[in-house]
Amino acid sequence: MESVEKIWRERYQHPTAWDQTFPPKSMGEMVTESASAHPDAIMIDFMGRKFTYADMFAQIRRIACGLQAMGVRKGDRVGLYLPNTPHYVAAYYGALMTGAIVVNFSPLYTAAELEHQVEDSGTKILFTLSAKALLPTALEVLDNSTLEKLVVGTVAEMLSPVKSLLFRWFKASESAPIPDDPRVLHYDRLTANPGDCAVAEIDPVNDIALLQYTGGTTGTPKGAMLTHQNLTANARQAQSIDPHQNEADRIIAVLPFFHVFANTVTLNRTVVNGGEMVMLPRFDAAQVLAAVQRVKATSLPGVPTMFQALLDHPAIRNIDFSCLRACISGGAPLPLELKQRFEAATGAQLIEGYGLTETSPIVCTNPYEGLNKSGTVGQPVPGTRVKLVDREDPTKPPPEGEPGELLFAGPQVMKGYWNRPDADAEVFMGEYVRTGDVGIIDEDGYVKIVDRLKDMISVGGFKVFPSQVEQVLYHHPAIKEALVIGVPDRYRGEQPKAFVTLNEGFDIDGAALKDWLNPQLGKHERVCEVEVRLNLPRTLVGKLSRKELVAEERAKADAR
Ligand code: AMP
Repeated sequence: MESVEKIWRERYQHPTAWDQTFPPKSMGEMVTESASAHPDAIMIDFMGRKFTYADMFAQIRRIACGLQAMGVRKGDRVGLYLPNTPHYVAAYYGALMTGAIVVNFSPLYTAAELEHQVEDSGTKILFTLSAKALLPTALEVLDNSTLEKLVVGTVAEMLSPVKSLLFRWFKASESAPIPDDPRVLHYDRLTANPGDCAVAEIDPVNDIALLQYTGGTTGTPKGAMLTHQNLTANARQAQSIDPHQNEADRIIAVLPFFHVFANTVTLNRTVVNGGEMVMLPRFDAAQVLAAVQRVKATSLPGVPTMFQALLDHPAIRNIDFSCLRACISGGAPLPLELKQRFEAATGAQLIEGYGLTETSPIVCTNPYEGLNKSGTVGQPVPGTRVKLVDREDPTKPPPEGEPGELLFAGPQVMKGYWNRPDADAEVFMGEYVRTGDVGIIDEDGYVKIVDRLKDMISVGGFKVFPSQVEQVLYHHPAIKEALVIGVPDRYRGEQPKAFVTLNEGFDIDGAALKDWLNPQLGKHERVCEVEVRLNLPRTLVGKLSRKELVAEERAKADAR
């Protein structure tokens, strides 16, 4: 929108030129440039082992050549079922250098979720670790799906008792035996080559780099196709708004890389910048605080729940935060009180940004310098255009002064959904992508999110779609109708709660239904309660309606 840009230019004189363009660049080019500009910059894993960018780049090249020797060609799908370890970094950029499309899998996925995404994306090769929390699930999927090969990194060296005391990573640090199976390859075998093969030619604007699964606005999981240019542009956009960012930055990478927020804001942005990155494979408040202290971290990207958990940890009082410059919060609304308390406790700025999978993800952020407006998600990042449309009829602008659905355009907007032209037709309006979020743009050009059109529940930044949980509930013979909503939760922002009615002749209580339901759900989908009712609210046309239940639960929480 013209006016946003004007305000930004004239009043706030944004630190980088608004006219900055983001010329097409592939991920391979980005990482090659960075390794040659910052060969001695380091990445540190959770065991404290250091890898220079030059070492890491050599590893990336060897993975690319190893994958090519296995027959991987441009456009093939290579999956990553990995936590934040150096294996992720090397496999991610290595696969991208072959022209393969990376598919991110959450390390928390159940076998059914993993299998669904393998099949939908056509993933043929999956990287994982020989950890009890990962390998047995990956092997199950190898037997039951079209997946052809597993590449397994070893975690045996993580078992050293002193180190595991330092960085205990629950079950994942216990290793699982790697079976002798021609479909299962050791990561070290894959990387045992000189790394001198030719890498693929990439068309950054059209070639897909990443299939990033999301519920979008409807809840059915689908792969957002993010091109090389989407990802490199968004990393550069994120970098361009921080005037003080340089290779002396030290970033704590605890947000999981498989999520697009960490993929861009933590990993790609650090690589562009040549900063030091400390990888933690799992969030544990004490470990994060210890890492901040140990490496004198300058930046900590996170979701609001993480900042809340850090504040609630007693060790926060003993940490010297003088190096911490800016923490970035995204993925879910940042409560004002949390921002203020965190800033008072650490002396660092807590900057709120906003984005979605479909936009790689960043579209807005509060400025590092200038007016940081609490309660808003800031202004569009350079190269980004924003527009508001009527929430009922997106072809019209909203009534004057009223909130509307937010739409964005820019180099970070996805190419579309994988094999889903129907979903593309719903989400694109010309070059703009719909967000399903309702907002306003204030007189200073700051965007404020006021509501959501999509039935999404944000559990500490992880997105849960009610329809997915309801589908599981309907498998129980006693359940006649089911509705799932998000209810307020102090730590996670929201958590799912189910309301059901029963078929005649059944007598079962909510606690028993919860015990039956939760083991079938992913960690973040698990409900806090199943409430049995005689009736559920309906719309005028008789469809089940979540709106009244949401209002009831909000009122209950306000009264507490
Ligand atoms: P995902 O695609 O999983 O990253 O989820 C994107 C959605 O998260 C957005 O459409 C918003 O609904 C929500 N979201 C992300 N950042 C914020 C924020 N700062 N404030 C409010 N909602 C947010």
